[in-house]
Amino acid sequence: MFYRVLSFCLVMWCSAVLISAQTLPPQFRSKQAPSTTASMTIEEYEPKSMLIVPEHPVKRAKYPFIDVHNHQDGRMARQNLERLVREMDSINMRVMVNLSGENGGRLKSSVENMDKQYPERFITFANVDFSIDRMDDPDFGKKAAAQLEQDYKNGARGLKIYKNLGLTVRDGSNRRIPTDDPRLDPIWQKCAELGIPVLIHTGEPKSFFEPHDRFNERWLELKQFPNRARPGDVYPPWEQVMQEQRNLFRKHSRTKFIAAHFAWLGSDLKRLGEVLDSLPNVSTEFGAIIAELGRQPRAARAFFVKYQDRLLFGKDTWEMTEYHTYFRVLETDDEYFDYFRKRHAFWKMYGLNLPDDVLKKIYYKNALKLFPHLNASEFPQ
Ligand SMILES: [Zn+2]
Repeated sequence: MFYRVLSFCLVMWCSAVLISAQTLPPQFRSKQAPSTTASMTIEEYEPKSMLIVPEHPVKRAKYPFIDVHNHQDGRMARQNLERLVREMDSINMRVMVNLSGENGGRLKSSVENMDKQYPERFITFANVDFSIDRMDDPDFGKKAAAQLEQDYKNGARGLKIYKNLGLTVRDGSNRRIPTDDPRLDPIWQKCAELGIPVLIHTGEPKSFFEPHDRFNERWLELKQFPNRARPGDVYPPWEQVMQEQRNLFRKHSRTKFIAAHFAWLGSDLKRLGEVLDSLPNVSTEFGAIIAELGRQPRAARAFFVKYQDRLLFGKDTWEMTEYHTYFRVLETDDEYFDYFRKRHAFWKMYGLNLPDDVLKKIYYKNALKLFPHLNASEFPQ
């Protein structure tokens, strides 16, 4: 018996040694695990924090919220929404704005599908088709505005403009269409007339326009996704692209605009404040840029308090666990916790610890003003 136990122990000890020597078949090894630390690259480095401080993970928002920046694509037209709504409930998302509503028949059938199953849980934004043959039509603006009016009748409650406008949309003579191109004026006028907001994503993070060198703050992301770079020989400078967006906001002061992703000024909140000060028809949302806020909790908190009536909750990608980081940054005063996507930056997050009355505005009160068809009594006072 003694020898059987001894040999069993020996076998276990040997396998432990073998496992620690990385003899596991590749499918069981961590993908990024380097074979030796000497050959490890900065991309593989994943230091685990030794800091011990109070932690308050948040898996459910403190108040019901309206996510103004989500994409569910054409699937909305056919899918059974039960699972999606269950997931929304689990994080306290009361209303999802689907910005990928397209237009025409597809938009109509997706709105019908959502309203039939879950009225008041989804809002659909229409999209404009900027394909070249349309852009060369002298009546492009008028026709797009007429399509939008039809989409509104079919249930669209906003217009989403993608980043292709101002970067890659071109006309037949291969000229880039800037965001403030007067040919598009009838579209913005129609939105003012219908009283629906325009959520507009213009440009990209400023780092994507900068040289991809060792000083670039998004170096890792550009290495992993080289086609995100916006080199100066192909694209206009970042300042120009973003200025065209502000020109549009200024010219169409009766139209309500939501500048997506904090207008890529999350790393320059003073300047974003100046933009909001000078353009009262503009609000903004923080989809995909929560890391910018979590790395500057004191400045971000002051900004949120000052501009509490102009900010909306947006997220962009539908990944449940990522919402937890958004809630934790907004609601807690936790220190030095992880962000979920290393390639965005190597920053750690700190909570803003926003007051309840500010949280309520960001989670739903400001959005309710943009969507008066929603029943406000469904939300706390
Ligand atoms: Zn988006």
